[in-house]
Amino acid sequence: MTADASWHRALAGAGLVDALGRTRPTIFAEMSALATEYDAVNLGQGFPDEDGPPEVLEAAIEAIRRGLNQYPPGRGTVELRRAISEHRERFRGDAPDPEREVLVTVGATEAIAASLLALLRPGDEVVTLSPYYDSYAAIIGLAGARHVTIPLRGDDFQPDAPGIDAAIGPRTRVVLLNNPHNPTGSVIEPEHLERIAARAAAHDAVIVSDEVYEHLVFDGAPFTPMSAIPGATGRTLSISSAAKTFRVTGWKIGWVTGPAELIDAVVAIKQFLTYVGGAPFQPAVAVGLGLPDAYFETARDALRRRRDLLSAGLRDAGFAVSPSRGSYFVIADAAPLGIADGAAFARRLVQDAGVASIPLQAFAPASADPSVRSSLRFAFCRSDAAIEEAVRRLRAVAG
Ligand code: PMP
Ligand code: GLN
Repeated sequence: MTADASWHRALAGAGLVDALGRTRPTIFAEMSALATEYDAVNLGQGFPDEDGPPEVLEAAIEAIRRGLNQYPPGRGTVELRRAISEHRERFRGDAPDPEREVLVTVGATEAIAASLLALLRPGDEVVTLSPYYDSYAAIIGLAGARHVTIPLRGDDFQPDAPGIDAAIGPRTRVVLLNNPHNPTGSVIEPEHLERIAARAAAHDAVIVSDEVYEHLVFDGAPFTPMSAIPGATGRTLSISSAAKTFRVTGWKIGWVTGPAELIDAVVAIKQFLTYVGGAPFQPAVAVGLGLPDAYFETARDALRRRRDLLSAGLRDAGFAVSPSRGSYFVIADAAPLGIADGAAFARRLVQDAGVASIPLQAFAPASADPSVRSSLRFAFCRSDAAIEEAVRRLRAVAG
């Protein structure tokens, strides 16, 4: 088969294969493979190296023993949809209707894909923050839509009013937000969320808000869900996942909540992507969502300590380190070390220092600021021992 077949051209146009039609591994897969090859401490791909809460793990084992091994209901088990609604009521004060306003998906990844494919037609515009999580650009490309970005500025990675106003306009069909933000670790200020909501409402755009790090906001700061912002309520699909909150990234249980008619549209796509998934994990995630407040606080505080450990180590090694206010990640700019191209530097760090990271430029368009090109994303969702070892190796390289 030739590489110029139209399906190759379409996939290349969406950035999913290279010009010769060869599959491009995601940056996460590429850096993790390199980390394994060089026996590096892997602070690249964002997955924890410690298991989640034992009662959640036991509930999955128990569910398999009980025989919950066949297709679950299309929208997810009733017990999980109720647990999602009760968890929302406890932490946010709203309670989506488990029957009509909640859909369980195969991770947040499927929730994002099904939402975008349900809402977009070729030529529609989708606005995201930039940098952005990698699957956003891929799905926008697959849908044949146009990707417009709001640049995050400063070392606290916030949007600004001119950026928001320039991006969201009459052609905007979807505003795809991510807060707390991967890859930058920023938590978007409520005033910016309000402006985004007002612009989306003025142009009748749907907001899709990816909030998978909702429980990982540090330093006592509150988390502001997009659906709570006036103007956004009623036009927002909120996405979350068990992956980060319960340290079970391999389980792939996510969910999307929102107005019944929008959820119906997402169901229409989801049923032909995966139909359903994760039968024995669904009751286990329901157990997790019902854990006492202390679980969520302890998990967040343990991560905050590791953020501090890694941020200090990166600073000692000579990086300019941005404040991480949430998520699993911290951004370190290698420009003070004389580095312009973070992609080449990230590969060298794996080989020479034995530490893997992700170049920030993998999450941004080529037109992004030079500081995006020279920066690296490091994950601190690792054991103290792993972070201490990484810091020791980085300091040795810095001399
Ligand atoms: N959105 C963001 C911002 C993420 O960081 C991730 C992965 N960690 C996902 C979506 C995908 O989540 P899941 O593993 O539940 O598919
Ligand atoms: N979400 C994880 C990260 O940002 C990786 C997920 C993946 O490998 N696709 O590191």
